[in-house]
Amino acid sequence: MSETTSEITAEIATRRPAPRARVKAMPEYHPPLGSRDALRLDFNENTLACSAKVREVLGKISTGALTRYPERGPVEALVAARLGRKAEEVALTNGVDEAIHVLFEAFLEEGDELLLPVPTYTMYEIYASSTDARTVTVLAGDDLAFPFERLMAAITARTKVIAIANPNSPSGTMATRDQLLAIAERAPQAVVLVDEAYYHFHGETLLDMVGVVPNLFVARTFSKAYGLAGLRLGLLAGPEELMRWVRRVLSPYSVNSLALACLPAAMEDTEYLDWYVGEVLAARTKFEAAIDEVGLRRWPSRANFVLVDVGAKHAEFVKRMKAEGVLVRDRSNDPGCDGRVRITIGTLEQMGHAGEALKGTMEVLGAG
Ligand code: PMP
Repeated sequence: MSETTSEITAEIATRRPAPRARVKAMPEYHPPLGSRDALRLDFNENTLACSAKVREVLGKISTGALTRYPERGPVEALVAARLGRKAEEVALTNGVDEAIHVLFEAFLEEGDELLLPVPTYTMYEIYASSTDARTVTVLAGDDLAFPFERLMAAITARTKVIAIANPNSPSGTMATRDQLLAIAERAPQAVVLVDEAYYHFHGETLLDMVGVVPNLFVARTFSKAYGLAGLRLGLLAGPEELMRWVRRVLSPYSVNSLALACLPAAMEDTEYLDWYVGEVLAARTKFEAAIDEVGLRRWPSRANFVLVDVGAKHAEFVKRMKAEGVLVRDRSNDPGCDGRVRITIGTLEQMGHAGEALKGTMEVLGAG
């Protein structure tokens, strides 16, 4: 080999494919999903099980169904009909996360702004960070109430997407229907995503306004009340004309056959869903009383979790609760949430255990 050839070879060997600058700058996100063999009050999942009817469907999946590519169309039409929407207005997604991802991909570009009230669901900012848009945040006050007036004031001609989790996570607080509609009206150039992941525990929705309000999108998940987080199933509803662009970005195969097969059974079993939601709401009231009893501050919640202020000993609190067999989620890194821990609400029985763990933990922490 001549010297120049070996120099070129050496230089080539040092070259690496480089990701886009935006991707290089993206934050890493590693949710703490490891060793969760305990009472799971850390991810706001259903803490018990999905409907037994779903298990039945899963048991009967044929080999044929596994060999074929999944066909989402018929299930999409069925879900849309159940929700009183046109099929063209509804897309099934691989969890709400995919709905957020494709919506941002379809609408956010250079010069645009994503407007977010914070603290809120982490993935909005993460997905936006891979686009060329800028994220503008509006920090909630100490009461963590929806910062309506300041959010309205932050809308500019560049605002292209406004994402609002309602009820919000990790706070559990809510925006009213009138506030959300006023925001959509103030920003006709922007897509307004109302993320109703926790709808079943709240009972208020804007789904009826999809197609009526020209820039309104609503997302729902099957990860929470339905107990199907592992199947990855969400839905996005929006005006027909805008859903057309979203579908260009969405993979036709991203919702798998097992999820599609289970979805009708999950939706039909309203008895199970109503029972689980009732159980969580009753347990929430009781657990809130347990929080009050140990003297921790908490925020009013419309969802299947409660945010509590543990203060400086938050990391120790999470550790102690884990030692008591209860997993909870430290939200200290969320904006305005230093010292705050989010606790998912499960069944009455589970929250009875969690209440005992809370008492025990606070006794140890208080003494320390
Ligand atoms: N939106 C919000 C507000 C959430 O809290 C979560 C889950 N933590 C999601 C969306 C994600 O839902 P999915 O499992 O359907 O992707």
